[in-house]
Amino acid sequence: MTKRNFGFSTRAVHDGQAPDPQTGAVNVPLYLTSTYAQEEVGKHKGWDYSRAGNPTRDALEASLASLEGGANACVFGSGMAAIMALVTLLRTGDHVVCGENVYGGTTRLFNQIVVNYGIEFTYVDTSDPENVRRAIRPTTKLVHIETPTNPLMTLTDIRAVADICHEHGIDMSVDNTFMSPFLQRPIELGADIVMHSTTKFLNGHSDGLGGVLVGTRPEHKEKFGFVQKSTGGILSPFECWLVLRGVKTLAVRMKQHDENGRKVAAFLAQHKKVKKVFYPGLPQHPQHELAKRQSYGFGSMMSFELESFEAAKELLRSVRLCILGESLGGVETLISHPATMTHAATGAAMRARLGITDGLVRLSVGIEDADDLIADLDQALAKL
Ligand SMILES: *Cc1c(COP(=O)(O)O)cnc(C)c1O
Repeated sequence: MTKRNFGFSTRAVHDGQAPDPQTGAVNVPLYLTSTYAQEEVGKHKGWDYSRAGNPTRDALEASLASLEGGANACVFGSGMAAIMALVTLLRTGDHVVCGENVYGGTTRLFNQIVVNYGIEFTYVDTSDPENVRRAIRPTTKLVHIETPTNPLMTLTDIRAVADICHEHGIDMSVDNTFMSPFLQRPIELGADIVMHSTTKFLNGHSDGLGGVLVGTRPEHKEKFGFVQKSTGGILSPFECWLVLRGVKTLAVRMKQHDENGRKVAAFLAQHKKVKKVFYPGLPQHPQHELAKRQSYGFGSMMSFELESFEAAKELLRSVRLCILGESLGGVETLISHPATMTHAATGAAMRARLGITDGLVRLSVGIEDADDLIADLDQALAKL
């Protein structure tokens, strides 16, 4: 039961999450079962085995499809498992155009596993949509992008790329992990498939992994549902339940993430020890107008550049409230050093080409009091 006429916050609380018809429980029950009793041979209530289907998972898939404005959704055991499922749309000889600075795990999967099946990839800077057009071949079947990119927060015009894809009859997928559907809904702008690591903002509490593919056509459910059943990389009922719980507060969390993100970015931008801040919400961000046009806010992901590796190390040693760690999108503020953490495997040459310096620090701003976060960064910057 979807209620598309309601606003986002209402749908986040209710869609897919109606009270349990049997007991009236206001939360979707956690169906910890591998199998289901069948009434007679060939007759069951719609579920026969939990790899193929589970009511807690169904609820989460209905919720996420509604929030992204898609037709359906399939959840997987992690974001990477979701991207692997996306790849099953392709056959030997097919070609993919991919953003050159997508999540490192995505390029690792494509370049070290998927290429072995005769699928080809071209990586381009999608911040200029014409680069996508130039890379398209007769065998191109998919264009996969991420916007904003990690960690330099470069944007891609989703509608412009979607238009190019559709002129050529190619599907476009968008990894929307950094924004969440509260702040950006690529399907409204023409994307065919939206992917998330639910590990991040959707779950929101840094306590579980997961991934989702939101589709726009019935064939997406058929295909990705078949992948769930056939390859088995499903999300467990417990993790589904955690994400269902997380999604109920998505709107309020994202409002606070966005407000804090703007305040922290503004603080960093005026600090004399900070060379540069990368945050689309700042008027000086070269794509600020695009950010305003295609998103409903700027979010809480940002990076900033300090003088040197030594300065970055000292800052990361000195913060007391911000937690040094990988990942993002949780209620707590996480701070990290891309060159030695998320982008260590990228290699120095590629990092230099992308502009990821040794003095770069990334922040996933949480929902604490912005003043406390600013005070923490201020005392740590004072040590440099
Ligand atoms: C974390 C992340 C992934 C991978 O998701 P996992 O849940 O860790 O497998 C993919 N894309 C982006 C943008 C991410 O941040």
